[in-house]
Amino acid sequence: MTETTYTKAELEAAHEDLVDNDLGEDGLRTDGGQRSGASRTSKDESPPVVVKLGGARAVDPAGALADVAHLVANGEDVVVVHGGSTAVDDTLERLGEEPEYVETPGGVAGRFTDEATMEVFEMVLPGKLNTDLVTALQNEGVNAVGLSGVDGQLLTGSRKSAVKVLEDGRKKIRRGDHSGTIESVNDDLLSTLLSGGYVPVVTVPALGEETAGASSTGRGEGGGAAGTFTAVNADADRAAAATAAALGAELVVLTDVAGVYEDPDDPETLIDAVGSPADLEAVEDAAEGFMTKKVMAAVEALEGGAASVTVADANNRDPITAARTGHGTAFEPGAVR
Ligand code: ADP
Repeated sequence: MTETTYTKAELEAAHEDLVDNDLGEDGLRTDGGQRSGASRTSKDESPPVVVKLGGARAVDPAGALADVAHLVANGEDVVVVHGGSTAVDDTLERLGEEPEYVETPGGVAGRFTDEATMEVFEMVLPGKLNTDLVTALQNEGVNAVGLSGVDGQLLTGSRKSAVKVLEDGRKKIRRGDHSGTIESVNDDLLSTLLSGGYVPVVTVPALGEETAGASSTGRGEGGGAAGTFTAVNADADRAAAATAAALGAELVVLTDVAGVYEDPDDPETLIDAVGSPADLEAVEDAAEGFMTKKVMAAVEALEGGAASVTVADANNRDPITAARTGHGTAFEPGAVR
């Protein structure tokens, strides 16, 4: 494969109209990066950047994808991770199925992924969404490769087919859930692709191993035979966290808000930096609903060895560059020590 390299002038010309994001002097890096002279295939100290694309319906990924192209042109290693829960719900509804959300005894809301929902998951995430993102990156001149967690055992963990739920105030066990927690990431596969100049675009499902305790009443009702694999739903923020941890990467979580707000309804209360356990406690208290999962993912990423985690607005121009230059909520390793 021939590598495309860009001069500083070419980059500046190409991105001139993109840099009006209030970034100031420290905005878009147009100096060819710190790796000047180095090829993208060489290994050096700068960690890769893992970008989690989110934002549900309120965000067009185009800005983030153009910024991925900027980073790649500057010689950085980038891995994209995405979810797409709302697209799954939309498709379920078009098929006349009802998305099902359950409450755990701990009060956390989560999707119940039955057999039919899992089928839609497989069609929508590694199918339509991943293909669309890879195509869009190709149009940005980025040689992207789409992968789900199943490919090359990229994301693996244990399947949890029986889940405790709270129904009408009573605890019940629901069987047949296709979900799991990611326990291991094939970082070797990602490094192989990165060193070949490719940009991996990663999505759930993950590859879930059936555990010995699982019932063997069949895939639809309980779990499969112990030791066999099933595709399972896993939270995309936590998948991104596991990926960043495995690569010792910088994690940029793009969403539809500017970061974590002290008051969830007031963007003026953006928390800039989370550098100590006390800061982390404040952020955990502030996060509600889905933001709770992002904060949990940030903690998992840092505990697992990620260099930093920033939650930032996907609607900024050059949103990744913006996130890396102080626009968002930045979690540093000191937060989990
Ligand atoms: P994505 O689809 O990008 O993964 P989510 O919808 O899962 O994003 O999470 C982002 C949402 O979290 C925001 O749109 C906001 O409604 C909610 N939220 C809850 N608490 C906070 C907070 N303290 N600060 C900012 N957003 C918050």
